[in-house]
Amino acid sequence: MSNISENILRFRESVEPKATLIAVSKTKPISDLEQAYETGQRHFGENKVQEMTSKWEHLPKDIKWHMIGHVQRNKVKYMAPYVHLIHSVDSPRLLKEINKQAKNNDRVINCLFQIHIAREENKFGFDKQELLDYITSEAFKELSHVSITGLMGMATFTDDLDQIRKEFKSLSSLFSKLKEDYFTHDEFKELSMGMTGDYKIAIEEGSTMVRIGSAIFGSRNTH
Ligand SMILES: *Cc1c(COP(=O)(O)O)cnc(C)c1O
Repeated sequence: MSNISENILRFRESVEPKATLIAVSKTKPISDLEQAYETGQRHFGENKVQEMTSKWEHLPKDIKWHMIGHVQRNKVKYMAPYVHLIHSVDSPRLLKEINKQAKNNDRVINCLFQIHIAREENKFGFDKQELLDYITSEAFKELSHVSITGLMGMATFTDDLDQIRKEFKSLSSLFSKLKEDYFTHDEFKELSMGMTGDYKIAIEEGSTMVRIGSAIFGSRNTH
């Protein structure tokens, strides 16, 4: 068995059933994804719309494609026909465009709000207050072709495990609060947090989706 298959099976064993394993295949060739697919892996994550779309064209159609990177609005139309879940909704303008393209394709697109929890300024996402203002606005309530199924966040890139845990705890408590006060429907159920370096802490803090790249496919040269 190849390394990729072994890694996939090992990760699935350690995270399921608490969390779904998203195999983050950005920058990796189709042949790597095929090896993962053969083990039964169906959830794949990519951070560039064009790359994801070309992989979607070449691979079996039962793969569930997760967009996890920052999305430019003019690219939404390329993934609207097939994307399974967009984790990285970081502005009202982006969500409005997703809604429009979903409508054009006669479907509802599942989305997570990305929340800015890290100390780093350069990471994307809503601040908590900004999100609360938005979800109580008329503009948000008008969107008929998107379904908000949860939240996503990325912790600070640091060795300080207490800091990482604190950030995941804050995302987890925002999730619970929103579920109680705003998104009381059953579809609001996903908390996408945790990558290769911090997925164990993320699962302890309530993650339902971990996004693992380098520990499965090896290190990347770019991105
Ligand atoms: C690249 C990426 C990952 C996976 O990172 P690894 O450290 O390789 O596991 C997870 N989430 C996002 C948003 C990413 O861009």
